[in-house]
Amino acid sequence: MSDKRDIRSFSYEQLRHEMEALGEKPFRADQIFDWLHNKKVSDYSSMTNLSANLRGLLSEKYEIYETVPVKVLVSSIDGTRKYVHRLNDGNVIETVLLRYDYGYTACISSQAGCRMGCRFCASTIDGLARNLTAGEMAGQVYSVEKDTKERVSHVVVMGSGEPLDNFDNFTDFIELISDSRGAGLSGRNITASTCGIVPRMIELADRRYALTLAVSLHAATDEKRRRLMPVAERYSIDELLDACRYYFDKTGRRITFEYSLIEGENDGEEDVEGLIRIARSVNSHVNLIPVNPIRERPFRATAPAAAAVLKNKLEKNHINVTIRREMGRDISASCGQLRRSFLKECAGDQNA
Ligand code: SAH
Repeated sequence: MSDKRDIRSFSYEQLRHEMEALGEKPFRADQIFDWLHNKKVSDYSSMTNLSANLRGLLSEKYEIYETVPVKVLVSSIDGTRKYVHRLNDGNVIETVLLRYDYGYTACISSQAGCRMGCRFCASTIDGLARNLTAGEMAGQVYSVEKDTKERVSHVVVMGSGEPLDNFDNFTDFIELISDSRGAGLSGRNITASTCGIVPRMIELADRRYALTLAVSLHAATDEKRRRLMPVAERYSIDELLDACRYYFDKTGRRITFEYSLIEGENDGEEDVEGLIRIARSVNSHVNLIPVNPIRERPFRATAPAAAAVLKNKLEKNHINVTIRREMGRDISASCGQLRRSFLKECAGDQNA
């Protein structure tokens, strides 16, 4: 990683402060913020209303941490685009661009790798490489916009990494991407997914951002959840649900429970009953996700017919529920698998 700070991570106020410290006029901060977060350029030479002197000074003091697309796969079924982005220190991360009727959604990563250890997830197999900066999270959005010339209207933080394990950079990112001087995304159009780090969920609730919190539940009892998600050793489902209710009370935003359907593991009669009890106890919506099998683990998805029966049961009990539609089925899979296959390809090249 560079020892220069990432200028794209600075809030507008921070940028004002930095310019002041450099003895520059405050409006320079407006210009730079506009270049970085409105015009979304990724090099100083494009900032044509700044003097060559100031551009030189900026590049000496700060870096614009890059997010360079090094691989792009496009689905011929639904137009989903999957990107591998290279960072300035050579780490690579995944970003996905999904096309919906209402606009484009970018699914971004919050860390390179992950240390949460969920058993069914490919992103965590090699552990955490490093946290992403706020600018690198925004950079993923800007990069896919530049590539497609389409505006991203929604962001979901559901790529690799645990956003609440990178809390300060993640919240800086939320503030940055919602700033009306820049991308100006409404909090209502942002969803962040967490495996359930309870104290951080409380802290996030206290910030009162309008964003939707998706909580990875995946099991209805502590015992089962612990088998799938190490984070469940630290926080019980009861503690998790208290945090969910607190989040709703503070923000008025309904919680989304994510529940990956794994055949024979969490899709039985008792599991459904437990899930109904949980979903009833919180103002929530349940998103059922047939698990995406990964090579390294034995898990298989619940069959579509059985998943539909399960969904029906939830509906009969007045639970808001959807089954996640699979997108980009033809272009490699989800959740860290593209990054892993890319890294393997690179390792193969070096050995060749
Ligand atoms: N760290 C965050 C974001 C992770 S990815 C979290 O845990 O919520 C977003 C969602 O995809 C999470 O619900 C995660 O549990 C789920 N997921 C990960 N691997 C999966 C797989 N192979 N199949 C289905 N869902 C998966």
